[in-house]
Amino acid sequence: MKTKILLLGSSNVDLILKVPRFHNPGETIMAEDLVTVFGGKGANQAIAAKRLGGKVGFITKLGDDHYGQTYRWFLTKNGLDPKGVLKDKERPTGIALIELNPNGENRIIVSAGANGSISENELRKLGPSWKGIHVFVTQLEIPLQAVHMGLRMAKDQGALTLLNPSPPVQLSPDIFSCVDFLVPNEWEAQLLTGLRMRGKEDIRKMGERLLDMGAKNVVITLGPQGLFFNNENEEVWMDAFRVKAVDTTAAGDAFMGALACGLSEKRPIREVLRFANGAGALATTKLGAQPSLPSRKEVEMFISKNASI
Ligand code: ADP
Repeated sequence: MKTKILLLGSSNVDLILKVPRFHNPGETIMAEDLVTVFGGKGANQAIAAKRLGGKVGFITKLGDDHYGQTYRWFLTKNGLDPKGVLKDKERPTGIALIELNPNGENRIIVSAGANGSISENELRKLGPSWKGIHVFVTQLEIPLQAVHMGLRMAKDQGALTLLNPSPPVQLSPDIFSCVDFLVPNEWEAQLLTGLRMRGKEDIRKMGERLLDMGAKNVVITLGPQGLFFNNENEEVWMDAFRVKAVDTTAAGDAFMGALACGLSEKRPIREVLRFANGAGALATTKLGAQPSLPSRKEVEMFISKNASI
């Protein structure tokens, strides 16, 4: 049975410039034509969960500007109810300025804009959006107070809470205690735990440390190495699916959306992890963030045909 998933998080407009090289201070260089796409971890994960068949609500905040208007239209077109889309009359819509060099490396500057003004009060006022939710997902591209409030309101509804601690900041024990599934990538897990990653055993140590810090379940995503899951009773290592990766942007967002969907359907944990592992792998096979987010049919066909390595 489908149960309700609520996403709370950022929406950014990504301005992508392909540059011949990263340039020096004071220097001007020419780039290829600007590519503008919708992004932000909150919106990416909401759209990922929706494409994967979830019953999804989304709370985010946009500026009262041209980007804000088009983003609102785009979210509605993707089946997300605009009721949860807040408007900031002063601050602009969040943007990410992305430089890509010919080696596929990037440099990104994010300006939070309206994402930075989501307040606890606004979340309280959106009361009906929280009613009857079963799974709640958020990240750290919005103010920490709003993240904490969101987690508490979700727990008040008896929902399962998922936190993708990205970009990573130190989290208080109060926040950890509201998190059912903490889902960092390897780099974020290192920053949160202060442990250094030298080998497989260190990943287990990070998982254990995150449980000690208060998370009830931990999923560390390991890019082409797959994932590590642990809670106080169980540990799962899962290799990644073998794919020809073209662009790894939003692999983590596809993974989060799939994890939320699988958990909302109350499927067994190994099945849910395999579904998320498949969605993450498929997202790497296409260029861009939201265009690469796979549909449910694509993921199901992919995981039925492919063994993870
Ligand atoms: P993030 O995008 O947040 O840095 P990861 O790079 O760890 O997260 O990727 C998230 C998930 O996507 C991985 O756990 C894995 O399931 C899948 N994935 C990422 N990169 C690859 C890859 N090159 N091949 C197969 N699967 C991948």
